[in-house]
Amino acid sequence: METKILLSENEIPKQWYNALADLPSPFDPYLHPVTLKPMTPPDLAPLFPMALIEQELSPERWVTIPDEVRDILAMWRPSPMYRAHRLEKAIGTKSKIYYKYEGVSPAGSHKPNTAVAQAYYNKKEGIKRLATETGAGQWGSALSFAGMLFGLKVTVYMVKISYEQKPYRRLMMETWGAEVFPSPSTKTNSGKAILAEHPDSLGSLGIAISEAVEDAATHDDTHYSLGSVLNHVCMHQTVVGLEAQAQMKKVGDYPDVVIGCVGGGSNFAGIALPFYYDKVNGKKVRLVAVEPTACPSLTKGVYAYDWGDTIRSGPVAKMYTLGHDFIPSGIHAGGLRYHGDSPLISKLVKAGLMEAVAYNQIPVFEAAMIFAKSEGIIPAPESAHAIKGAVDEAKKADSEGKQKTILFNLSGHGFFDLKAYDDYLRGKLSDYEHPEEAIKEALKKLPKVA
Ligand SMILES: *Cc1c(COP(=O)(O)O)cnc(C)c1O
Repeated sequence: METKILLSENEIPKQWYNALADLPSPFDPYLHPVTLKPMTPPDLAPLFPMALIEQELSPERWVTIPDEVRDILAMWRPSPMYRAHRLEKAIGTKSKIYYKYEGVSPAGSHKPNTAVAQAYYNKKEGIKRLATETGAGQWGSALSFAGMLFGLKVTVYMVKISYEQKPYRRLMMETWGAEVFPSPSTKTNSGKAILAEHPDSLGSLGIAISEAVEDAATHDDTHYSLGSVLNHVCMHQTVVGLEAQAQMKKVGDYPDVVIGCVGGGSNFAGIALPFYYDKVNGKKVRLVAVEPTACPSLTKGVYAYDWGDTIRSGPVAKMYTLGHDFIPSGIHAGGLRYHGDSPLISKLVKAGLMEAVAYNQIPVFEAAMIFAKSEGIIPAPESAHAIKGAVDEAKKADSEGKQKTILFNLSGHGFFDLKAYDDYLRGKLSDYEHPEEAIKEALKKLPKVA
């Protein structure tokens, strides 16, 4: 029985899968942040290159990956798939567990899959600098890496709590040539406005997005880059699931359930959407998104139009949301602290074609420990949510006397998140559920869309 299931470089996918071609109902248009009227491509042009705007709304099912992008992806792709023999043994399951490991990229997560594509299209349109936000630091490092490869400057607004908790992520970005500011910062009007009201603000992704969007909108040579949520990002990540399909085929297996953690939804989209395509074409496969109880957008939020950022300067999207001024608690899975979710994933969850579950952080870290002690890889706290989901699926199958084939996305390693392990090992972690009352309050402030 194989442990590593590997593909050769010529098996790196040549096309991305665009799930917009296969939705159960038309994609709900993005709305202008002020007028709340549908946005047109020119509305988005100050922020994104035309190629990405086209991809965002493209009806084309298969989109060719440019050779320049594939060449760079070949630095770490195809990523390995593992059969988790030792994890299976550790939890005593009869089920088969596979995981796709995205921690092999230079930045240590799935995020360079889209960062490289985004840097490529921006460079091609003559852009000189990219502004972005980062939560836990993974997206900032991925874009710093990709920007460096294409000779683009990168400015990163890093959520302040992460800036303080994860200095090594910042150093990684700086090593690759980026400039990094703690957000809220005094570099933008949005940052200054937040600081005036909350001088001790720990920041949030919503605030950092406002800062990066303002930076891009006020500089002609600068575009904004988003590491998750949007359709084109989800599409770029489908290389993960497309490879996974080839890898499963290689060992003559097929998953009953595909699992990923969800922050904005991109790594889950990456592994799950190609299997969603199979599902549309008659295959039986469950697709399960795992989120933290501290930021339960899919399980406790509402499916409605909301602003993507706190200052309400970015597009309004129909998605599961906890409200745009939601400020999450400082849980360690920093990458899962976004108030909303990918509109694409949200739509499929709403339609019952994907499922969602939420876990507290202590059981998630317990699963991370079992994984680290059996498979060896120390997972990112975000990815540990998917591990917990997979372990629970296996246990459920055992209790029903069934044997399932379970596939999950190990979206990144946790080498820069060891502070979280420090807290866990010393008993300093606590569980946190975002209170229902706070959700109800926040949801009063959704835009009134006719
Ligand atoms: C950013 C990140 C996530 C969450 O973002 P998604 O867009 O939901 O994938 C999950 N895992 C890791 C390792 C990350 O870096």
